[in-house]
Amino acid sequence: GAKGMLLFNVLSAYAGDPILSMQLAYRDDARPEKTNLSIGLYYDDQGRIPRLSSVQQARERVLRSTDPSMYLPMSGNPAYCKATQALVFGADAPALHEGRVATIQTVGGSGALKVGADVLRKFFPGAQARISDPSWDNHRAILEGAGFVVETYPYFNRDTQRLDFDRMLAGLKALPQETVVLFHPSCHNPTGADLSQAQWDQVVDIVVSRRLIAFLDMAYQGFGDGLDDDAYLVRALVCANASFLVANSYSKTFSLYGERCGSLSMVCANADEAGRALGQMQQAVRRNYSSPPAFGASLVETVLNDAELAALWRSELAEMRTRIQTMRSRLYEGLCAQQPGVDWAFLMAQKGMFGYAPVLAQHMMRLRNEHAVYIIESGRICVAGLNDANVDRVAYAFAAVLK
Ligand code: PLP
Repeated sequence: GAKGMLLFNVLSAYAGDPILSMQLAYRDDARPEKTNLSIGLYYDDQGRIPRLSSVQQARERVLRSTDPSMYLPMSGNPAYCKATQALVFGADAPALHEGRVATIQTVGGSGALKVGADVLRKFFPGAQARISDPSWDNHRAILEGAGFVVETYPYFNRDTQRLDFDRMLAGLKALPQETVVLFHPSCHNPTGADLSQAQWDQVVDIVVSRRLIAFLDMAYQGFGDGLDDDAYLVRALVCANASFLVANSYSKTFSLYGERCGSLSMVCANADEAGRALGQMQQAVRRNYSSPPAFGASLVETVLNDAELAALWRSELAEMRTRIQTMRSRLYEGLCAQQPGVDWAFLMAQKGMFGYAPVLAQHMMRLRNEHAVYIIESGRICVAGLNDANVDRVAYAFAAVLK
């Protein structure tokens, strides 16, 4: 009270994260038909966060162990890192055998972005960072938090509601050497607008010839076209002998949000460079949080390193991917039926968890107030929040506010 030091009176209020604030409004909404398409979570067809059977079986095994809880090394669980490398780079990637990929376990994909940004900032102090326009909001926050000046490169055309590839290429070509450029290899957040493999090839040419520092953020590997297809950019950059970074996240693909499972890899020119890259990532970890948590990584590692559980997980992942694709089609068909004159084809061209319909942005409050449908300000829709029970009503609500 009044007797306190008021030392922290200088602190300004934190506006909070708009998406997380919306969760609270949704939670307190008493309407039974309420539908949450705002946050980027995968829900099953019952509207629940799934418990994957592969992960459940791994959990039973891990819980049987009576080992004490020891610190992991700064770089995390070695078996987890090795299995993650196989998934991200492909099991027989020559770069792995050549020992020129350094990989650490991180606190989710977000932790990987932070550690990678810290390492880059230390050794490229003159570099700026570029993210796509638009991008996941936390990309800017994390890169700026690491000290970078962050600008955008052209990505999405709001008139066609599609990727603006020519402007993207021109933007990348104009960047100074050693600019840090953040890419979404697949399932772009928020737009769902992805590059084709041929388009990525052109980006790779520019990255290599212009000596750009590509930083890949792969938070949805397997939610687009499949585990290998979604990692095309990773594989293409390796083939082109690029030096680059990859962040990966298991939050969505293992439905393990709270366990904070991710990784950061630095692909180097040779094993000697990779050894130093590992050391620098370890140092960045040490000075941020010392070492990563053990439990979630042991679950992921148990699944990926057991042939049977790994096969089960791949089928569960395929099921999630297929469900998202089905719901995207159902929404599209519903919209076409409600609004025969409107071209929603762009929705079908998008991939991954999100649909992006900036046209809906201005109707966000009406969707919420009149139809109990929650979307975020940008017009991003989480397609994975749709199910048999709500998809027709959502299509109706969208059509109603757009009339
Ligand atoms: N990158 C993108 C594009 C994301 O959408 C997300 C999560 O929403 C992340 C990274 C962060 O993943 P994690 O929850 O594992 O930190």
